[in-house]
Amino acid sequence: MYRKEIAANNELKQVMADYYHELNHATKSDDEKIAWCSSVGPAEILRSLDFKVYFPENHSALLGSSRMATDFIPYANAIGYSPEVCSYLTADIGAYLKNVTPLSRAYPEIKSIPKPDVLVFNTNQCREVQDWFSWFANEFKAPLVGISTPRSVGTVTNSHIKFIEQQMEEIIEPLEKISTIRFNINKLKEIVSLSRECSDLWKKVLDTAATIPSPLTFFDGTIQMGPAVVLRGTQIAVDYYEILLAELQERVETNIGAVDNERYRLYWEGMPIWGRLRHYSELFARLKVCVVASTYCNSWIFTAFNERDPFRSMAKAYTELFIVRSDEYKEKYLREMTEFFKIDGIIFHDAKTCPHNTNARYGMPQRLEVETGVPNLIINGDLNDVRCLSDEQSRTGIEAFIEQLEEA
Ligand code: SF4
Repeated sequence: MYRKEIAANNELKQVMADYYHELNHATKSDDEKIAWCSSVGPAEILRSLDFKVYFPENHSALLGSSRMATDFIPYANAIGYSPEVCSYLTADIGAYLKNVTPLSRAYPEIKSIPKPDVLVFNTNQCREVQDWFSWFANEFKAPLVGISTPRSVGTVTNSHIKFIEQQMEEIIEPLEKISTIRFNINKLKEIVSLSRECSDLWKKVLDTAATIPSPLTFFDGTIQMGPAVVLRGTQIAVDYYEILLAELQERVETNIGAVDNERYRLYWEGMPIWGRLRHYSELFARLKVCVVASTYCNSWIFTAFNERDPFRSMAKAYTELFIVRSDEYKEKYLREMTEFFKIDGIIFHDAKTCPHNTNARYGMPQRLEVETGVPNLIINGDLNDVRCLSDEQSRTGIEAFIEQLEEA
């Protein structure tokens, strides 16, 4: 055995099953409303208005991890979406066009994705979510509501925050018209407080990986982040991360690593390759290498949430994100992560269809190597379109990179 499985996975499976069943129930009910939300969109506002919140990116990641995504991308290409654009978008639209969802595989009673009463995006991560949600809004004849966030932000200033805060306040009125209840600031405060608790626990979970040996891998993190993405703002997510954190802390106390005999510690920068999680997880573990941390999993840490000032703190939290920021900020962040997690090397994933979550194209890996002395490897691939990936080439590259670490 090279990798240690997380015991809390059983609870996690139940948490995620309950979440999807609740959405499925809402789809059939006239009394419950469903809002689609981009992954770092204003979920707290939606929950405060009693919407059941569905995240298409999570669904598309499931298409990827169940290795269904690549089959459906051509159907979206056929209606005009280039093979070059986000393969979350193309896989998700393609699967919808063929009336297929991985949810039915996991939960046979679920026949389709939940029908939206409203779709809400924030362009903080990319403009693609707007295009993606617009297509579905048109398809379901449902209203589309959005927040526009500036990109390549260096320092997050008061004017940035005010600009987003105002937009967040302005979406309340159209959402209230669709919701079954009136907006209540106290309810929003409660939800922001739960999101903050979830975020703090998720950060503690990820930070356990700073220990040598690390009790957690990036590949575990991509699975464990589910509640932070789809259930932040609920007690369910908080309860789950308390269980997970206790398990990881016990591993830390008893010196148990996620990978047997950890020799090297890597950082993963960029999107996961959903269809190859197990493949990479096993490959690195065989080499006694632990990929301990990632920008991706860290992206659901929102330390700015503050229930005393919900709109402003949400505006700040959703604008401070790594993906929103300038290269200068990103390099500083990666330097800090390299130090904090005691990293021996960085893997940069150049994801063909996601330029926003790819930082390997404009010299950043080379600059960081000069500044920190930490070597890097660039893997060409994609989040969902496995045709963009050569398993053989990436395996050879990884093995050569580890040999390079051995010789250093
Ligand atoms: S950030 Fe990348 S993967 Fe995510 S929706 Fe935008 S383009 Fe797609």
